[in-house]
Amino acid sequence: MSFEQNLAEIEDRIFRACQKAERDDRPELVAVSKRQPEARIEAALSAGVRVFGENRVQEAQERWPARWETYPDLKLRLIGPLQSKKSEDAVALFDTIDVLDREKLCRTIADAVQKLGRSPEILVQVNTGEEDQKSGVLPDDLDTFLTETCPNYDIKPVGLMCIPPADEPAGPHFALLGKFAERYGLSQLSMGMSNDFETAILFGATQIRVGSALFGEREV
Ligand SMILES: *Cc1c(COP(=O)(O)O)cnc(C)c1O
Repeated sequence: MSFEQNLAEIEDRIFRACQKAERDDRPELVAVSKRQPEARIEAALSAGVRVFGENRVQEAQERWPARWETYPDLKLRLIGPLQSKKSEDAVALFDTIDVLDREKLCRTIADAVQKLGRSPEILVQVNTGEEDQKSGVLPDDLDTFLTETCPNYDIKPVGLMCIPPADEPAGPHFALLGKFAERYGLSQLSMGMSNDFETAILFGATQIRVGSALFGEREV
């Protein structure tokens, strides 16, 4: 299948999921380009895709700044774990950082924002499944993080992001994230990937992050 065919199919599935959810708005499709070959990136750009998700700062640095001149309307989201020492690079490159999850990152991001005079949108990643190996604020810590930690660094998140455990139904995790977003008045919900984006749409996703269903399987 060509990229254009994949894109058309995904857009059709988004449309139908929105109908089923009786939503008038459409979630934004974030094309997750991590570890995809250049030819597919070019195909995506030719098809008009402008919003991309990357999970490594360095890979994104190698791929995107060279394209800014040709595609000034590119929007880049960081969706993978951020090391605090990479904060300045991330603030310089990304329009949105989906993965704020600890106090140290609040500090390094705030420092970078001040130094560079550039403020990406920030989402807080929540570890809804409380998995040891996964990043994200634990649900029990979210209140303190949003009402004390972030304000201390003058960081104003606009939304929440989660990656449900691979071996559980995603719906309850998306529902929980939606409940938190409502409680704290946050408008963006970055949730849903290739395997579960329709479920995420039912639970109010405003951004869905789709990689392999759009581009094909990743290179290892
Ligand atoms: C890789 C990745 C995706 C995309 O995954 P697919 O299953 O290929 O759609 C979405 N979100 C995050 C955080 C990822 O790391």
